[in-house]
Amino acid sequence: MKPAAWTSWFVMLTVLVGCSQRQVAPMSYGKNELVRVYPSDTDPAVTAFVQKELRQLLSVAEHPNLAMSVTLQQPQIRNTLAMAYPNGDITIRPSAVANAMESQAALWSLRMVIAHELGHVMGGHWFTRGSGRLQKELEADQLGMQYFRSLGWSCTVWVDGFRSTTDQGIGTTEHDAKARYEQARQLCEGEK
Ligand SMILES: [Zn+2]
Repeated sequence: MKPAAWTSWFVMLTVLVGCSQRQVAPMSYGKNELVRVYPSDTDPAVTAFVQKELRQLLSVAEHPNLAMSVTLQQPQIRNTLAMAYPNGDITIRPSAVANAMESQAALWSLRMVIAHELGHVMGGHWFTRGSGRLQKELEADQLGMQYFRSLGWSCTVWVDGFRSTTDQGIGTTEHDAKARYEQARQLCEGEK
């Protein structure tokens, strides 16, 4: 698959991302263990990779000392690439991480996904269907792009990702994809 195809594939799936209602008290970890990766028998190289990617985004987020965990498994909602829970748990499809370890394009897509999910966590978002959902997706994108800016990372990956999704049209979420593309374009333009 070409890099461009990877990007649009990732973005298409993140359009469907949401937060599920699962209330668990945040656990307190030691500072060196801010990001835990499950399942616990995950390949140490994969664990270290995920920890590094999440830690650098977390370091510029609203609550950099929040204990987070990443669960590498297919999220419960079909076709969804990643999900976030307000208690600081992010679930990511394992293949998205494996691909990011192999390709630069997939790495930037994964960074977008993690930044977006972190935005949901920091925004305290609950999963919503219907009218409130797009607003939360836009807010999560906005926060995610803010983390990118703080790290000195280019915002163009967001614009390009959403642009290719919009070009292809993706059925019922097409409207959302257009709104997300438009916001990303405007925010990115404002950075220049
Ligand atoms: Zn989302």
